Amino acid sequence: MTISTKDRAAIGLGGQHPDLALWWDLAGSGFMTSTWFTGELPAFVRAWNEGWVERARASDLGASWASSLPESLDGTLTAADDRVGEANFLDKRHTFPYDAPDLSKPPEDKQRAQWASFVYHSPLSDRWVLELAGRAVESLALGSDEHVDYLGVSCSACDIVGHATGPYSREVTDLLLRDDRELGKFFALLDERVGAGRWLAVLSADHGVLELPEALLAQGVDAGRVSSKELSAAVKGARAAVKARFGDDFFVDSDASGIRFSAERLRAAGVAPKDVRAEAKAAFAAAAPWCERVFTWDELAELDPAKPWPEDLRLQRHSFEAERSADVLFQPRRGWLVSVGVGTSHGTPHPYDRRVPLVFLGGRVVAGGDPRAASPADVVPTLLGELGLALPAELDGRPLPLR
Ligand SMILES: [Zn+2]
Repeated sequence: MTISTKDRAAIGLGGQHPDLALWWDLAGSGFMTSTWFTGELPAFVRAWNEGWVERARASDLGASWASSLPESLDGTLTAADDRVGEANFLDKRHTFPYDAPDLSKPPEDKQRAQWASFVYHSPLSDRWVLELAGRAVESLALGSDEHVDYLGVSCSACDIVGHATGPYSREVTDLLLRDDRELGKFFALLDERVGAGRWLAVLSADHGVLELPEALLAQGVDAGRVSSKELSAAVKGARAAVKARFGDDFFVDSDASGIRFSAERLRAAGVAPKDVRAEAKAAFAAAAPWCERVFTWDELAELDPAKPWPEDLRLQRHSFEAERSADVLFQPRRGWLVSVGVGTSHGTPHPYDRRVPLVFLGGRVVAGGDPRAASPADVVPTLLGELGLALPAELDGRPLPLR
């Protein structure tokens, strides 16, 4: 089973047939699921959901999320609290302290939703995800018999807070220190309930992120933001070029990652999609100096699996899906965010977006580091190896040495 603040994180972590996936309900009911998984929440979840608003109010974050960090963080990577480029998020601000919702104004259901949002955007969310994970271990007696149990936990607050204030913000540092303490409590519970050496935890992330471009610029690093206006001007240029040559622009939509054409209109016009994509690519690239590379659908679809792929195409190809990927795909230059006005984001093949931690803890793992390249795709083969199970041939990744 899986637990997260975010629906997509809980669902994605569970694979195709989890027993249950739980996530935080922004409407205010507590942790919820979908009828896809079960008709009724298990008793331990219903019991946990009872009175969560009162527990939030009574907690150390019940009045506000205030910084737990020392005033001076000189010599650390953590930046000042108030920075250009941070997005307002909780309490419509981007500096500590973040006040909890005002309780003087009914109605109750609106207040519940406001409190649910406060939890979602504050360290309470990760704390409660781990607390409920502990309840799951106890109530479902996970790890207590000869069968292997899998519990997927996603601490999503780092993503929610990090998008607003950036990876080196005080908010993220404060959150990570709090999460570290909560993880320690959870591991102690596993030792007590499952037994030391009888559980194995893996910690990783689904993406890295770019530091705030304004902060990078201040350090003399090439970085910046491409506004939605600049993006749409370049898209318009590409559409005009296609229309001038083929009589129609075949345009359906575009976003920060690419342009899509109508397969139907291309077919009806009897035009080769490849030619249209190539025309659009050339016009777009000429109008978008902030783009490092522009790819066509065909360039990625036609890569020969038997031959080594050029590095930039190989990385793009990992995110390519023939049915869904755009006809023309953009890759911004290193340090540049497209259509992200404040805060920060991810989604490029640049190292800062791809580099994530990968930590194994517990079981028979021997403490130490390994500087060699590894990937989150290696997690499942490694776990299967630890369990002495055969590796299915179609699995990505490889077992990593843990001793
Ligand atoms: Zn994200």
